[in-house]
Amino acid sequence: MKIQFCGAAGTVTGSCFLVTTQEEKFLIDCGMFQGSKELKEHNYSEFLFNPADIQFVLLTHAHIDHSGLIPKLYRHGFQGTVHTTKATKELCAVVLPDSGYIQEMEVERKNRKLARRGLPLLDPIYTVADAQECQRFIKGHMYEKEIVLSPQIRVRFQDAGHILGSAIIEVCIREDGQEKKLVFSGDLGNINAPLVEDPAEIKKADYVIMESTYGNRYHIDTENKLDALARVVKTTHKRGGNLVIPSFAVERTQDLVYDLKHLKEEGQIPPMEIYIDSPMAVQATQVFINNPYCFDDEATYKMKGEDARAIFEGPDIHYILSVEESLALNKKKGGAIIISASGMADAGRIKHHLKHNLWRSACTVLFVGYQAEGTLGRRILDGEKKVTIHGEEVAVKAAIERIDGFSAHADQKGLLDWLSNFKTKPDRVFLVHGEEDSLLTLQRVISSELGFQTQIAEYGSVYDLSHDAVLTPFVAPAPAPAQYVAAFDTADAFKSIKEQILNLAKLPGKDMRALQRLMAQLSEIEREMNKAV
Ligand SMILES: [Zn+2]
Repeated sequence: MKIQFCGAAGTVTGSCFLVTTQEEKFLIDCGMFQGSKELKEHNYSEFLFNPADIQFVLLTHAHIDHSGLIPKLYRHGFQGTVHTTKATKELCAVVLPDSGYIQEMEVERKNRKLARRGLPLLDPIYTVADAQECQRFIKGHMYEKEIVLSPQIRVRFQDAGHILGSAIIEVCIREDGQEKKLVFSGDLGNINAPLVEDPAEIKKADYVIMESTYGNRYHIDTENKLDALARVVKTTHKRGGNLVIPSFAVERTQDLVYDLKHLKEEGQIPPMEIYIDSPMAVQATQVFINNPYCFDDEATYKMKGEDARAIFEGPDIHYILSVEESLALNKKKGGAIIISASGMADAGRIKHHLKHNLWRSACTVLFVGYQAEGTLGRRILDGEKKVTIHGEEVAVKAAIERIDGFSAHADQKGLLDWLSNFKTKPDRVFLVHGEEDSLLTLQRVISSELGFQTQIAEYGSVYDLSHDAVLTPFVAPAPAPAQYVAAFDTADAFKSIKEQILNLAKLPGKDMRALQRLMAQLSEIEREMNKAV
């Protein structure tokens, strides 16, 4: 039994792991690479395997960096079934055709240039039609149910608490009379996130393949996320402007609507009309309404035994589909909360809303998600005084706010807590889905706090899981630089301070604000330490 890391190895996107047994070859995730030009080039290259040889795919969740190359897999000869949760299947029907549309547009732009230069034209990675066509091969399952895929393979989807339908996947493989259990964490969510359940606790595994996105980070907001949201709404209302929120269409938008509705019902924010202006977000909200069994107790309680619409709809909540209605929002000078995609403001309807509100000092632009370098969102957040939108220069006069607490990823503590549920030490924990800093930090804390053997997976490397031996084309990591070795002493000192703070936190009458400030400072030091490494 072997595993090959065909993506999300040493980086956070392109999740794809190939498992080969005596009888089968299957994938866990088939995601798109995002970010730098070099990473995106993987999307255009051949897979590291022959798609026609793959019998089935197990999909953790609908995010494009986990699901985005499934239509390409079919286009290149895969004929099997994609097994996932019911909600993920429905979200795939929303996000994959949208991704197909983006691929078509991207290639159309490139082809216009190529045609002018008389060069051969490119094919899109896949089209909207490809993405629609493959939907019928995706099979949705319920959480916790054991699925027997062959006499040798049993699979179970457990809630990962990351986005609606997201799953940790348990895979039991029987070979030569013995069974090995592989646990793929997928992307792990936070405890007490809105709407979705907490990540399921898994107690046993021979191998864990674990995400490391925030392996070097603590989510500490100096202010409670809901208090911060209420403050931003109140100050915008007082100034008489609009509140514009660039937001990812799946989960983040629904979380915001849920939280804003809650704040309004509690009388914590003044009356402002809420507009969700993104066709994809509107479709995704419908998937949430279709799958209320995924909700946590609080959201279920708020449904009061009724239709799940109750938590996303209200007289002052408006879902916008048509272009005309979207354009009509440009005339509103105040009293509106406009939630629109894309989340990083580099495409989509949000750009129109920014063009009409960014130059007005009565308005606020609120960022609730990660803004990658080079995006319009990042430029605004970095304090640029003028930005260009649709070829027009726009002055930045609106208040710019940011709330970090909406992240859908567990932080270092969340990752460690989840891993500490394993009652016996797994043979090995493979760390994937993280940048170098996060991977190295997480590897260090897992070995010091839990004593588990960890391995940072490298792109293309193959591991023989029957004998825990490393096979080709494994490239040995470069020896740790001298500064890194020296950093271990600092790391010990850091760990000791952290323990002291955590002990202080247990005392009665503690000052939570002061503690949070200290933890934030500690995270800052840790970040600097990792940079130095
Ligand atoms: Zn994700």
